[in-house]
Amino acid sequence: MPNPASPSFAQGVAELRASEIRELLKLIDRPEIISFAGGIPDPAFFPLDAIDNAYKALLADPAKAREAFQYSISEGYLPLRQWITGYLQANEIDAAPERVLITSGAQQALDFLGRAFIEPGDAVVMSAPSYLGAIQVFGTFRPRFISVPMDTDGVVLTELEAAFRQKPKFCYLTPDFCNPSGVTTSLKRRKAILALAHRYGVAIIEDCPYEELRYENPRIASFSALEADYLRQPGNDGRRLAIYVGSLSKVLTPALRIGWICGDATLINKLVLLKQASDLHSSTANQIIADGLARTCHASQVAKLRKAYKERRDAMLAALEKSFPKDVTWTRPDGGMFIWLEFPESIDATELLAEAIRDIQVAFVPGAAFYANDQKRNTARLSFSLGEPERIREGIERLAALLHNKLRANRAA
Ligand code: PMP
Repeated sequence: MPNPASPSFAQGVAELRASEIRELLKLIDRPEIISFAGGIPDPAFFPLDAIDNAYKALLADPAKAREAFQYSISEGYLPLRQWITGYLQANEIDAAPERVLITSGAQQALDFLGRAFIEPGDAVVMSAPSYLGAIQVFGTFRPRFISVPMDTDGVVLTELEAAFRQKPKFCYLTPDFCNPSGVTTSLKRRKAILALAHRYGVAIIEDCPYEELRYENPRIASFSALEADYLRQPGNDGRRLAIYVGSLSKVLTPALRIGWICGDATLINKLVLLKQASDLHSSTANQIIADGLARTCHASQVAKLRKAYKERRDAMLAALEKSFPKDVTWTRPDGGMFIWLEFPESIDATELLAEAIRDIQVAFVPGAAFYANDQKRNTARLSFSLGEPERIREGIERLAALLHNKLRANRAA
């Protein structure tokens, strides 16, 4: 007899675990804690006046308001798909509204892609480290994860090719300012990855929520843009393997829950059916508001965020340079929200977090959570998106002092 207190869950759900890290991070919601843990936008930059005006205008127009609060099509609100198409085309992607599906955030896009491709035991390729939310959601479909290490230009090609030989269903990458590592895949590496994808017939899911948060160096063409160019060349194989996942969460606000997928028409048609089966459609009202905001304040938001987050990134990098022990290494991201630390092997970052919260009131995310396989426990993710530069400097100095003490103690032991 099934016991109602311990139901027999599907295996992918039974295997879901709240992490020890999440338990530790519950302790940080106190004003005295300087937290580098949350990888979220600073709410001080949400365009609240524009949101207020957009809702007022919507409610003042009865016909539009009725449309906004009614059911709508699973593909998504057409004007918003048209705006997204224009955005993608401006970035050299050969998008079309009928090949764009609106999802409830990029997270739902990843869920649908996992559902569309993965059967238990199927191989799935990810960078190591990789976005925790992707590891979690793909994990519910019980794949066999193949992790490919990264260098400063992106995933390592020899290891990627070895992974592709195992016939994975797809390869998931965050090409710009990866969450958690901050690494941006170079143009040369992107071209080589795309060539490998076409040689082995592996779909590339490119997750691009941070691409607008670039603080230096020119934008690098996405896999989808490079593939659009390839598909115009004579002798191409005619296959569309790049799948672009986008989001308005980081530029406007996550609460609207607007993400999207742009890819091959056959794939999008299947995903529309998944969307229908899952939640019918994303909130019509939110899509209408997002469409208005995207058209009126996307550009100004990007300008505002670039300036503010760049200052914070610079403050964190300068403080690390000034005060951190020389045997700790870190990435220098061109954008995004994250810096990745690698400590000497003797440091376990989960233990360090417990001490940091207790003794110096500083928090970060230990890196182990970001590995699908073979966790590196001497790594950590710092986010610089929240907090003024002065507070960032203070937190990094405190963390540096704790690390100096620990490393000294380890050497003495
Ligand atoms: N992908 C990556 C790499 C992310 O960092 C996030 C948010 N932290 C998401 C997807 C999900 O974003 P959303 O669902 O808000 O669009």
